[in-house]
Amino acid sequence: AAIKEVEFETRAVSMKTLPSGKAALPEVVFVGRSNVGKSSLVNMLVNRKTLAPTSAVPGFTQHFNYYAVNKGRRKSPSFFLVDVPGLGYARADDGRMDSWKSTLQRYLGVRENLRVVFHLIDGRTGLQKADEQLISLMMNENEGRSSYVVVVTKCDKVNDKKLKGVTEKVRQTLDKNGFPKTTPVIPTSAKSRQGRVELLGYLRLVFDV
Ligand code: GDP
Repeated sequence: AAIKEVEFETRAVSMKTLPSGKAALPEVVFVGRSNVGKSSLVNMLVNRKTLAPTSAVPGFTQHFNYYAVNKGRRKSPSFFLVDVPGLGYARADDGRMDSWKSTLQRYLGVRENLRVVFHLIDGRTGLQKADEQLISLMMNENEGRSSYVVVVTKCDKVNDKKLKGVTEKVRQTLDKNGFPKTTPVIPTSAKSRQGRVELLGYLRLVFDV
């Protein structure tokens, strides 16, 4: 089995409007700072150029984008890929950042069908404050209910030495927060498609796709 079909499902601007009841499916969320390369990674994973809109300019919009995988197919498991733009965007005013952080906190904490969290960290800038906050949210709110995979993005722009430094810092922070040493930290590039097989491997583990 595989990802046979992906289509845009819905955009939700708050926790209240997320798919629920019959419309709910297991979810895979992509979280990370604005401009980290979320949309590019989603497109790379599903082999579509323009499923998730990408932009060179960090966006202000804060919402959940839902993409349905294998919807309505009987032989392939269906689930949602969820793109959550806008975390920790430096120029957003504080009030807005706080409210979004608390939305994400609730989402990671209470969303029952959340099965996998891909936390994207920009390989060029490495771990930022918002990433440290996210790691601690994962530990304290999610408490291991979802699989957690750290994804280092844009590795085509990062040399080996730099990547090693970024990865070590991530590892130290995961350790400090009490995550097991087996927590995956995967180098990727939407450009060279590095890491695609590994990330799909995690989806396969969880969904048998
Ligand atoms: P998002 O805001 O997190 O959804 O980020 P986007 O996917 O829109 O990407 C933000 C910017 O980073 C865009 O200019 C992309 O072309 C660029 N980008 C994303 N992924 C990669 C990558 O793997 N390699 C390189 N070199 N650039 C990337």
